[in-house]
Amino acid sequence: MTDTRKTNLLDLDRAGLEQFFIARGEKVFRATQIMKWLYGHGVADFASMTNISKALQANLAEWAEVRLPEVAADNLSDDGSRKWLFRLADGNCIEAVFIPEVERGTLCISSQVGCMLNCTFCSTAQQGFNRNLSSGEIIAQLWMAAHLLGQRPDAERVISNVVMMGMGEPLLNYDNVVRAMRIMLDDFGYGLSKRRVTLSTAGVVPAIRQLREDCDVSLAVSLHAPNDALRNELVPLNRKYPIRELLETCREYVGEGRRRVTFEYVMLAGINDSDQHARELVRCLEGVPAKVNLIPFNPFPQTRYLRSSNNRIHRFFEILNRAGIVTITRKTRGDDIDAACGQLAGQFRDRTRRRVRSESANQVPST
Ligand code: SAH
Repeated sequence: MTDTRKTNLLDLDRAGLEQFFIARGEKVFRATQIMKWLYGHGVADFASMTNISKALQANLAEWAEVRLPEVAADNLSDDGSRKWLFRLADGNCIEAVFIPEVERGTLCISSQVGCMLNCTFCSTAQQGFNRNLSSGEIIAQLWMAAHLLGQRPDAERVISNVVMMGMGEPLLNYDNVVRAMRIMLDDFGYGLSKRRVTLSTAGVVPAIRQLREDCDVSLAVSLHAPNDALRNELVPLNRKYPIRELLETCREYVGEGRRRVTFEYVMLAGINDSDQHARELVRCLEGVPAKVNLIPFNPFPQTRYLRSSNNRIHRFFEILNRAGIVTITRKTRGDDIDAACGQLAGQFRDRTRRRVRSESANQVPST
């Protein structure tokens, strides 16, 4: 049972845990000790934390808890990817997907219950928005997946990469997302390098600038169109932060180093996939350290879009490639279990009355 008077330890990064213990007259080192149990060993039960005295275990049980979601569904795809529906304490459900590959295992996690951005080609958007996830609910997806996949502290990591590409716009839940990512990067947390944690955004410009200062993980930007007229339609947030400003911010984000920003580009038949769009994209990305990730559109019920043909995607790819832009076509994984990009819908109550709103044209949330 959830006891809201208790602190959820998953809500605290290392600095937060240190404060938690100091405020209760305990030694600072308890913070890293607890983190090793929680994240290194995947132990959530205080009584199993053997180097902690019985007295402190009892106090911890008084003060705090480790709040984990229930597994509402667990689906395994033919290609080995696995999708979980996690039920949160308030009954809302969110999705996370594990994608195993030869050299790595990537976990895709959610940052919000639903999404406020009205991207026209995304299934999450059609569901509306309910609320932000707490940092504990974000990191708990990693905890649960590691647990369910049998990740062991002494063996090679099953989850080597994390992408914030599930439900929601991570940069509209900034503080909680950053706190959760700090736990992913912490040596006493999941110990992942910044290269292996990727945040994907539709382009919340001021938050990208702030992220560079606070937690400069790998950045992916959902571009999807090479000009403002088209992008205004597909990603309404573009009306607030147009392409030029967005790309300038991306350039600043990676600075002079060797890093690149990944630009996601969903391939929608007859909408954004012509040769001319590809050439326009090449011009648009000039001077931006970029990688392009072409994503074949994943359909969902009631969508008006179709996936571009393989030939079309190949032609588009060739134009970018010949212009010297590192391009990959993302393999569609888990589509037999609706776990592919843009198909994560979860189960929750829309609080925006999205269906009503969307009729009064796509709105841009205040950021
Ligand atoms: N809000 C963030 C992260 C979530 S979306 C963002 O916009 O980046 C993760 C990626 O899947 C984004 O690039 C998104 O544009 C893409 N996507 C959304 N719907 C899709 C669909 N139906 N088919 C393919 N990709 C989709």
